[in-house]
Amino acid sequence: MEISSDSAFGVVTGAGLSSLGDPAAVRQQPHEAHEISLLLKLTNLVAVVVPFAGLILGIVMLWGWGFSWIHLGILVGMYFATGFGITVGYHRLFTHKSFETSKFMKATLAVLGSMAVEGPVFKWAAQHRRHHQHSDDHDDPHSPHLHGKGFKGMLQGLWYSHVGWLFDKDQPKVYSYIPDLMKCRVLQWVSNTFTLWVFVGLLIPTVLGGLLTMSWTGALFGFVWGGLARIFLVHHITWSINSVCHLWGSQPFRSHDESRNNVVFGVLGMGEGWHNNHHAFPTSARHGLRWWQIDTSYYVIRLMELVGLAWQVRIPAPATMEAKRNR
Ligand SMILES: [Zn+2]
Ligand SMILES: [Zn+2]
Repeated sequence: MEISSDSAFGVVTGAGLSSLGDPAAVRQQPHEAHEISLLLKLTNLVAVVVPFAGLILGIVMLWGWGFSWIHLGILVGMYFATGFGITVGYHRLFTHKSFETSKFMKATLAVLGSMAVEGPVFKWAAQHRRHHQHSDDHDDPHSPHLHGKGFKGMLQGLWYSHVGWLFDKDQPKVYSYIPDLMKCRVLQWVSNTFTLWVFVGLLIPTVLGGLLTMSWTGALFGFVWGGLARIFLVHHITWSINSVCHLWGSQPFRSHDESRNNVVFGVLGMGEGWHNNHHAFPTSARHGLRWWQIDTSYYVIRLMELVGLAWQVRIPAPATMEAKRNR
């Protein structure tokens, strides 16, 4: 058992510790290696690439009448706003407590994350803490590795890790993972009013599309691109992290699971694709630990820190990283 792994992050103590994804605190048993077949990896690749290709084809076909620079701007703007709500807010702040911020910023990030339509913040954070605690073991809510042998088991695993886990009924004990979050009144309010924020997230691009083109068709396409297509894109990319990044990529650190660093999802997933780094150092605010590992979510946190909106930003010490390096 590795004791020193997260001590460099500092202050988390007591009941909250094991649920923040600290492998030193939660993993008593050594990880059982899963055999990853080429077929599994290739099927996953097809499942991930085809929907992307479909979206790009749609954009090309509709360019000029159903898609324009304005709609591209709305799509990209909404993608980053709600995507950072998930990566900076739901994931790095609420699930892993990798930095601290004001109540107002917490509410803002939770609202933006809710607009991504990945469920209320409490449910997401609880599921994700469980993912870290049981990564690729029986209780992992979205491992691609636990659905039996053969082609059918493999397809089930891929479907489940990609989207299926979201439709699971709440496990009775799932909220025992987030006692710290449940004490926060602001978060309670945002989590309970989830549906409202989904609606607001659809309204904003619709109104923008209408105002920027001064037309009803512009409003409709604002809704389609900045609302529906953007939700699809954020879902597809965040969920690809759960499947692709437990199948494809490098493992520079010992993390006791199948997590991998994947350069494509490092860039597209706003830094979340440096997933082996993340599983090795779950409470680090920075996932792209090398200078060339682009991590836009960390750049946002760093910017917040520079202007006084974030503090206690946790980064592993060089010696801690060295100790966990795979040789
Ligand atoms: Zn993972
Ligand atoms: Zn995580």
